Amino acid sequence: MLKALTDVVDSTRYILGPQVAELEQQVADYCGARYGIGVASGTDALLVSLMALDLKPGDLVLTTPYSFFATAGVVSRLGARPLFADIERDTYNLDPASARKVLESLSPDERRRLKAILPVHLYGQSVDLTALVDLAREFDAALIEDGAQAIGARYESSDRTVRVGSVGLAGCFSFFPSKNLGGIGDGGMVVTSDETFAEQVRILRVHGARPQYYHSFVGGNFRLDTLQAAALLVKLPHLETWHAGRQARAAYYDEGFAGVADVIRPAVAQRQEYHIYNQYVISVSRRDDLQVHLKNCGIATAIYYPVPFHLQPCFQYLGYGEGDFPVSEWAARTTLALPIYPELTTDQQDYIIDAVRQFYGH
Ligand SMILES: *Cc1c(COP(=O)(O)O)cnc(C)c1O
Repeated sequence: MLKALTDVVDSTRYILGPQVAELEQQVADYCGARYGIGVASGTDALLVSLMALDLKPGDLVLTTPYSFFATAGVVSRLGARPLFADIERDTYNLDPASARKVLESLSPDERRRLKAILPVHLYGQSVDLTALVDLAREFDAALIEDGAQAIGARYESSDRTVRVGSVGLAGCFSFFPSKNLGGIGDGGMVVTSDETFAEQVRILRVHGARPQYYHSFVGGNFRLDTLQAAALLVKLPHLETWHAGRQARAAYYDEGFAGVADVIRPAVAQRQEYHIYNQYVISVSRRDDLQVHLKNCGIATAIYYPVPFHLQPCFQYLGYGEGDFPVSEWAARTTLALPIYPELTTDQQDYIIDAVRQFYGH
């Protein structure tokens, strides 16, 4: 790793050096897309993808109310309007049936302003891509996948197995250190198989300039650092092994909670080997008390996410209220993420499982 970093320092090619292009190709290949465009963060991957759609103030983007803030934040930053639909109880992913209901209730004028559907592959598991591809087609919207937590996660459609990010017009990834493929700082990537879209993202990444100093569009500085790309090139070859380590630990937790799944309800994996388990999440009653109990046992947990978007103060102007998305609200109230990483030992997992079970008298 250090050698890869000192090579960059010695080369002085800090901005869009050859490691960026190399990583772009490797990540695109890994995901099964034609092009990769390295950007400064997962947030910028989403932002620049929506900018490449020429999103205008007043346009609509359908998304989930239950995700990391960036998913809806980028829509709002461009002056467009996030339009929420509820999630599925088993996977916490956008529910295509709820999405359909929301889209069918739009007025003809609103339908014209719908520009994108932006699902999130939450916690490392793919959404129901078949249903969402159909919806996007039917409602003439671009499908942009937020794969920030799910690089390498797979999805099985009727005729083939694909990796997330390669199905929609664009897939957006984050290399934030806590993601399965984490850099040594911020980083992100857009993957796409659409040549025109890829070119547009590449231009917007450097302030909309092509050639340099001639601006047809207003873009930004969304570049991925060469140093980050060099670090990620060292890590990428290990990613599949790390995924497998997480999958094995998720299976072990599932077993540990089998029989008490009505009390301690693990998220449902459509197929364990397709889920990359960026998080292992259980849904429980008395969640906050459990978290304190685990903390007292020396076990660190996290709540993703305590407040769904439609109840966030900054989105009050959208006019949603309590009760509008009951499954998202339930998830925000009841979910807890347990420690999961490839180095987690069986002893540690036994200790965690016992501590959780003991809290509920099992
Ligand atoms: C992490 C994350 C992002 C943002 O990525 P950054 O690299 O932190 O900007 C966006 N969406 C989801 C679902 C995420 O988990």
